[in-house]
Order: sequence, then C-alpha cells, then structure tokens
Amino acid sequence: MPETEIPEPSSRDRTTLVKLRERQCRYVVSDGGSEAVFCGGRTKEGSSWCPWHRQLVYTKPPSGGAKAGRGFVLPRSG
Ligand SMILES: [Zn+2]
Repeated sequence: MPETEIPEPSSRDRTTLVKLRERQCRYVVSDGGSEAVFCGGRTKEGSSWCPWHRQLVYTKPPSGGAKAGRGFVLPRSG
C-alpha cells in the first residue's frame, strides 16, 4: 500500500534532449528509438526528476530472478 500517491507523468510531456528545459524530468523513457526521449514532467527545484521517476530512482526495483536468499548459512567449526 503506497503511502503517498504520485501521479504518473503524462506522455505528452515527453521531450528530446534539445528541447529539454531546466525544470523538466531527465528520466529517459525512450524504448530503443534512435533518439533519446525524456520524461519531461515537472520537477521540483533541485531535482533532476519528476516525483514519479524520483521514486523509481530512489527505490530500486528488485531484480527479477534470483531471490536475495536469507537461508545461506555459514558452516561452523567446532
Ligand atoms: Zn519523469
């Protein structure tokens, strides 16, 4: 359950590097195109990303596949 709801930025805000302004989100959202496309959402002062992508950057998603196992036990001597 999320503590705060952050709206996902609109895809209409997306922009390219040449058009990217200072207060626009620099998160790259392009998917394999020839030109890098940035989110372009409104950022807060001092932040490189909009709140939506900021949370993505700061809370890294768990890498799929291997579980971070807790069951690994070191062999004891004695
Ligand atoms: Zn963004």
